[in-house]
Amino acid sequence: MRAAVFKGLGQPLVVEEVPDPEPAPTDLVVRVKSCGICGSDLHASDVPPGLPPGSVMGHEFAGEVVEVGAQAAGDWKAGDRICALPYIGCGHCAACLSGDGTQCSKIQATGLGQIPGAYAEYVRVGGHESLRLPESLDYDAGATVEPLAVGLHAVRQSGLEPGANVLVIGAGPIGLATALWARFFGARSVVVSEKAAGRLERAAAFGATHGIDASKEHVPGAFAKAAGAPPDILFECVGVPGLVQECIMMAPARARIVVVGVCMQPDTIFPVMAIVKELSLHFVIAYRRDDFAFTLDMLDAERIVSQSMITDRVGFDGFSAAFEALKKPTTQCKVILNP
Ligand SMILES: [Zn+2]
Ligand SMILES: [Zn+2]
Repeated sequence: MRAAVFKGLGQPLVVEEVPDPEPAPTDLVVRVKSCGICGSDLHASDVPPGLPPGSVMGHEFAGEVVEVGAQAAGDWKAGDRICALPYIGCGHCAACLSGDGTQCSKIQATGLGQIPGAYAEYVRVGGHESLRLPESLDYDAGATVEPLAVGLHAVRQSGLEPGANVLVIGAGPIGLATALWARFFGARSVVVSEKAAGRLERAAAFGATHGIDASKEHVPGAFAKAAGAPPDILFECVGVPGLVQECIMMAPARARIVVVGVCMQPDTIFPVMAIVKELSLHFVIAYRRDDFAFTLDMLDAERIVSQSMITDRVGFDGFSAAFEALKKPTTQCKVILNP
């Protein structure tokens, strides 16, 4: 099959022939129809430790089942339209059985150097980790379920209550998804701050009530002006050093800071500032299976829409160039590979 292969740090992906997936008896093989490019893939391809050369990335995907293992969980058959959690757990520990697979001690991640990912014609997934794509949703919408589920999980973990004033830092796909669910669950103000030009315009379609251009405006002041009060919850959706401390500095007493962005470098905070204000600092990772299921239900019911997250589509021809282009400042949001 064809796949976009990681060759080494700082090198472009190369589309070439690779062996077909080798499924375990509990796996399904899926023909990839849509796979989103994720910021963490861009990061992993440039910044140490990177991935083993030869890895195939891609963890935001939907497709059609072409092969069902003899022991695969669920009643899957060839031709089923699915999206899948981008990992395979052991399938029988308490975490796996409750749909909390990221806490399985035997988890193998898809597209991050363990199980080959979906920048490919085919990908193997777990029967247990697969979810049916409703008829109303196309495969591109199916590929947005993963980033949407990240935002949903973050908002659920935050304990957001109706009427809350919320600050979302970062208007990338994860920031937008977080804004969407914060508004969905009744936040009164959802203020999105972003430094990069051209990204804020999209936020209103994702539930943002106000936008702050953080390259020009002082965020705490602009927030107070927009919301009439300081933020009850701050979602850090960027993942670069310094931002957690910025949140600590701008948070009012007893606010909650939810760290959604994945910072892969050492970072410094001054705990005493958080102590004095009795702040809650909450780290979150990915999603549970029911976050995927709820996202699919709400897309199917048209309670949420994700299409405006997708700004570009590309086939294998031009995929490597599209991937490289996303590393430079861009107004693009989600770029989808249609293999
Ligand atoms: Zn991702
Ligand atoms: Zn397990």
